[in-house]
Amino acid sequence: RRPYSDEVKRAQNADVNSSGPTIFDKIISKEIKADIIYEDELCLAFNDIAPQAPVHFLVIPKRKISRLQDSETGDKELLGHLMLVARSLGAARAPQGWRLVVNNGVHGAQSVYHLHLHVLGGRQLKWPPG
Ligand code: IMP
Repeated sequence: RRPYSDEVKRAQNADVNSSGPTIFDKIISKEIKADIIYEDELCLAFNDIAPQAPVHFLVIPKRKISRLQDSETGDKELLGHLMLVARSLGAARAPQGWRLVVNNGVHGAQSVYHLHLHVLGGRQLKWPPG
């Protein structure tokens, strides 16, 4: 398991102002392989490459929104859809419970600037997060 400080460093070094493609665009276009667990016309879910729990997958919109902070009122249906997909996959894969996390911006330790919902479960999680 990667120490958390690495993830924070990665987040602090991420190009916050870039509106260009991220690694997730390449996963959506299948240029880069990912362990995809769900796909529909609006979103994609795949296992995190550096899992922080036995169940750790990401749900991302196919249309790029950099941060949750950059979403708009018109994204209401899309944002709701992402949560409903996270709900169904979370219920199936971590029936004893899971956690939904959205890292936003530098202090939120966001490292990939394409909105993603983390779903973590499969073990007893602690609170509060760091
Ligand atoms: P963030 O820190 O909230 O931005 O989370 C980005 C997540 O994407 C991290 O948990 C990474 O491990 C994960 N990640 C980065 N690249 C890949 C990949 O190629 N496949 C799957 N997950 C990835």
